[in-house]
Amino acid sequence: MQASRANAARNVLVTGANRGLGLAFCQRLLARGDHVVATCRRPGKAVALNTLAGHHPGRLHVLPLDVAAPKSHDELARELPLVLGEEGRLDLLINNAGVLHSGERFGKLTAANFEDSFRTNALGPLLLTQALAPLLIDGARVVNLSSQLGAVSQVTRFGTPSYAVSKAALNMVGAQLAHALHDRGIVVVCVHPGWVSTDMGGEGAQITPETSAGGLLDVIDALQPEDSGRFLDWQGETVAW
Ligand code: NAP
Repeated sequence: MQASRANAARNVLVTGANRGLGLAFCQRLLARGDHVVATCRRPGKAVALNTLAGHHPGRLHVLPLDVAAPKSHDELARELPLVLGEEGRLDLLINNAGVLHSGERFGKLTAANFEDSFRTNALGPLLLTQALAPLLIDGARVVNLSSQLGAVSQVTRFGTPSYAVSKAALNMVGAQLAHALHDRGIVVVCVHPGWVSTDMGGEGAQITPETSAGGLLDVIDALQPEDSGRFLDWQGETVAW
């Protein structure tokens, strides 16, 4: 079995990489020498990513991916060997892309928000991981950006229900994938990044995307096979389901 190359340059794929936490992951990964496949819905409009690519020639590839569209997963799986090389494999997949529909009120809930949240936040990471599984090394890491808001035991009020429900589903996706990929030594975790100052985190957020991404990468580096299926925060503490 190949071991994940914790201290060597790795091949990492990040979804939703054009802004927020996804962009911060890419910056951190590049700074430590990794090869990054940064995916986003509209590469042509991903100004920050394309600027970053200019500063790291040959180490940052920007590819299109809509995580809510399974056809897009298949196209990415076909394109990846072109940037990784025929023998190239991914050491780490960061399922970061996510959506939060704000302003939901009980009495005015619509199916559309729930369907979009489910497709993007839960089904997307599941089907993308399945599509990319042949391109993961044995011993790889798969990290799902979940949220404390998806923890059933920590619900204290009615709020952002389509998001909360979809992140609870993502937590189950993590548990299922941990078993599906166990025999290949692939470690799958769900993580809570903290309350982060991004477009989604909004005002009042407690930490920067750089701090969160840095903490999460330390947590990811320290993952052991027995951690597969766990729910951890950006400082490595267990989050109750
Ligand atoms: P953000 O600033 O709103 O960025 C979200 C990213 O996801 C954007 O790049 C967006 O791309 C992308 N995205 C949305 N739908 C997509 C789709 N269908 N296909 C591909 N990309 C898509 O959010 P963030 O704060 O960086 O959040 C990153 C992750 O952390 C999310 O999963 C979020 O739920 C989780 N999280 C964040 C916080 C927080 O406090 N910020 C807390 C807990 C968990 P576009 O630009 O194309 O929309």
